[in-house]
Amino acid sequence: MQDKLTLMIPGPTPVPETVLMAMGRHPIGHRSADFQKIVKRTTEQLKWLHQSSSDVLVLAGSGTAAMEAGIINVLSKGDKVLCGDNGKFGERWVKVAQAYGLDVEVVKAEWGQPLDPEAFRTALEADSTKAIKAVIVTHSETSTGVINDLETIAKHVLAHGSALTIADCVTSLGACDVPMDKWGLDVVGSGSQKGYMMPPGLAFVAMSEKAWAAYAHSDLPKFYLDLGKYRKAAADNSNPFTPPINLYFALEAALQMMQEEGLEAITTRHARHRRAAQAGMKAMGMPLYAAEGHGSPAITAVAPEGIDAESLRKKVKERFDILLAGGQDHLKGKVFRIGHLGFVCDRDVLTAVAAIEATVQELGLAKAPTGSGVAAAAAELAK
Ligand SMILES: *Cc1c(COP(=O)(O)O)cnc(C)c1O
Repeated sequence: MQDKLTLMIPGPTPVPETVLMAMGRHPIGHRSADFQKIVKRTTEQLKWLHQSSSDVLVLAGSGTAAMEAGIINVLSKGDKVLCGDNGKFGERWVKVAQAYGLDVEVVKAEWGQPLDPEAFRTALEADSTKAIKAVIVTHSETSTGVINDLETIAKHVLAHGSALTIADCVTSLGACDVPMDKWGLDVVGSGSQKGYMMPPGLAFVAMSEKAWAAYAHSDLPKFYLDLGKYRKAAADNSNPFTPPINLYFALEAALQMMQEEGLEAITTRHARHRRAAQAGMKAMGMPLYAAEGHGSPAITAVAPEGIDAESLRKKVKERFDILLAGGQDHLKGKVFRIGHLGFVCDRDVLTAVAAIEATVQELGLAKAPTGSGVAAAAAELAK
C-alpha cells in the first residue's frame, strides 16, 4: 500500500514526524548567528548523548566517514592497530586501516559470536614495546546482531597505558548505554540514520583529550576529514565547510526528543524490544543467529531453518509493507534481520513479529502453533 512502508532495518530507521517537519524549511545561512545557535545547542545535546565532556564533531557523511575520520586523525603511517573482526563492519575497519598503510593485527571471532575480550588483553599485555597505538572495536555488529563487550575491551586498553580505543558505536549509541568518559573511550563514531531517528547524512565523531594528543602528531593524509578543522570551527559554533543545514534542523529536533525521553528510558525500551523480538522468534522455532546472551539491543538476526530468508523477507514486504534486512555476504538467504533501533515502539515490534508469523503460516512453513510468536513477544513487552 502506498506510503505504508515501515522500516525495520538497521538503518535508515524510521523518522518521527516532528523531525521531518523540522527539516521542511528553507535552509538558513551557515555563517549566520541563527545557525550558530543551532550548532551550540546540538553540540551540548551530543555531549549529553555521549555522556562525555569531549568534543563531538559533526561531518557531512555516513557512519563510515565518521569511523574513517576517527582512524586517520589519531594514527600515523605504519602504526600498529588491533582490530576486532566478527562481522561485516569489523571487516570494514580492517580494510580502512589497511588502505592507509597501518599495520593491522586482526582479532577475529566467528560471525554470530562476540569478540573475546581476553584475546585483546593477551595481545595488549604482550605488547611490551607499546607498538600498539589503537584498538578498533565495533560495539554493536549490525551484520550479525551481536553486541561486543566494549566496556571490558576498553578496560584492557586502559591497562595497556598508551593505546587508544576507537569504537564504532553506530548501532549502539541511542540504543544502549555508551558512557564514553566512564569507559575511557577515545574515539566514538556514529551516524544519523541509526539511533538518532534521522535520515542519513550526518556523521558524528567524538574525540577524547588523549585522542587529540595523538592527533597532534598524526601524519596520515587528510583534508575534508581533518578533525582539527572541525574542532577549530566548533569553537566558534561553526563548521569548516557547508554543512547539511536541514539535517541540523532535524538533529536539534531529534536530540530534543531523546532528551525528553531520557537516556535510561531509551536504553530500557531497546532492551525490551530485543527481548520481545528474540522471544517471538524462538517461540516460532526460529533460531537466533547471535550467540545466546550476546544479541544486540538494536537488531535481531534470525537464522530460520528450512526457510529461505530472502523469500520470507520479500513476502513480509509484499504482504505487510514491513521492510526487514537480509543477510550479508555468505548469510544471504540464510539470515534475516529485524531492526528495532531508534524511533521504534512496542507496537512496531509486535507487528513485525506478527507479520513474520503470519507469513510463515502462509508459506506453510510454521513450526509452532499459530500465535506462539506473538504471545511470547507480547509477554515480554508486558514485563
Ligand atoms: C550502519 C553502520 C555503519 C555505517 O555505515 P554507513 O552506511 O557508512 O552509514 C558502521 N558500523 C555499523 C555497525 C553500522 O551498523
